[in-house]
Amino acid sequence: MKQVMVFVEQIDGRIADVSSELICEARRLARELDATVTAVALGSKLAGVLPALGNYGCKTVYCVEDERLSHFTSHPYAKSVVGVIRRHAPAIVLFGATIIGRDMAPRIASALKCGLTADCTELRSGEHKSLKQVYPKTLLQVRPAFGGNIMATIVSPESVPSMATVRPGVMKLDPPEAGLSAEVVMEESGLTPDDFLTEVVEVVRREKSVNLGAAQIIVAAGAGAVAPASIALVRKLAQTIGGVVAVSRPLVDAGLFPHDHQVGQTGATVRANLYIACGISGQIQHRAGMAGSKRIVAINSDPDAPIFRIAHYGIVGDLNEVIPKMIDAYKN
Ligand SMILES: Cc1cc2nc3c(=O)[nH]c(=O)nc-3n(C[C@H](O)[C@H](O)[C@H](O)COP(=O)(O)OP(=O)(O)OC[C@H]3O[C@@H](n4cnc5c(N)ncnc54)[C@H](O)[C@@H]3O)c2cc1C
Repeated sequence: MKQVMVFVEQIDGRIADVSSELICEARRLARELDATVTAVALGSKLAGVLPALGNYGCKTVYCVEDERLSHFTSHPYAKSVVGVIRRHAPAIVLFGATIIGRDMAPRIASALKCGLTADCTELRSGEHKSLKQVYPKTLLQVRPAFGGNIMATIVSPESVPSMATVRPGVMKLDPPEAGLSAEVVMEESGLTPDDFLTEVVEVVRREKSVNLGAAQIIVAAGAGAVAPASIALVRKLAQTIGGVVAVSRPLVDAGLFPHDHQVGQTGATVRANLYIACGISGQIQHRAGMAGSKRIVAINSDPDAPIFRIAHYGIVGDLNEVIPKMIDAYKN
């Protein structure tokens, strides 16, 4: 049976959310392709945590247990995954577009001489015609191109597997179905001492200043709220309604916020229950990171701002006047 395989990323045995999101997406693709969902995981002492991936629809996890893979290093990880892919021949392999995924996936694509599409925002299967060839049930990989001005659909039907990276938060995480368990199949790493070109001596982690991916209420400031008094109002609104502050790219470029706060194509992708965009025009690169939010409220002085096309509620006005009224209304 065809396989849709997901590379499972983990740190100290904690599986990254993006891997669970990709397994949910793999399950949707597998239904279209009559395929099964599998995963590949590398590290040490993983066997206990992997069966739970069954809750998201994964049937089998190929696990390479090796103490030397406890911490990510490029070559041993890529070589181990290449070995698993060669042995099990999946039709599709998905990676998180994280630091690890972005490092490994091109190395693996190069070793296997197959196509790789980075930062996909949508994956589906469909027919692709090229000259006289018809490729049924091909992976159609959609991603922004030319600075976000077009959405390109990319196919690589002549090489197997088709590989894609997807950023955290882009694919929907389905609720886990408790009680389902993935089969764990142990695999040989095939690594020799010569494969370990680098050694991890110490791991130093920088904590994120904010985790936008997990935030349910977000109040976002754009270039229209760049003045210190406006930013203070945005912060006050967020604090009043129990939300976190996000920003569009100009505020990061201006050095007013760290990059962790940026939403959009080159920032975080969020799926908040409530997203209040204050002084944000709604360019495609910003929308790419927040359009999946359940309720979008936009405050903008320009009635023609593109953000109003996707907002559920639009308030045309000066945010410096609107936000205090919102805070008062909420408190009352
Ligand atoms: C490759 C690439 C990647 C990018 N990645 C990202 C990304 O990840 N995230 C991102 O955000 N951008 C990104 N951008 C930048 C993006 O194209 C836009 O430039 C940016 O999103 C604009 O931010 P903005 O809406 O805050 O500013 P503007 O477009 O300048 O809009 C400001 C808005 O504020 C309104 N306004 C002004 N004063 C007030 C007021 N007093 N009250 C109410 N409204 C007011 C204006 O009417 C206007 O609509 C990227 C661009 C490129 C080329």
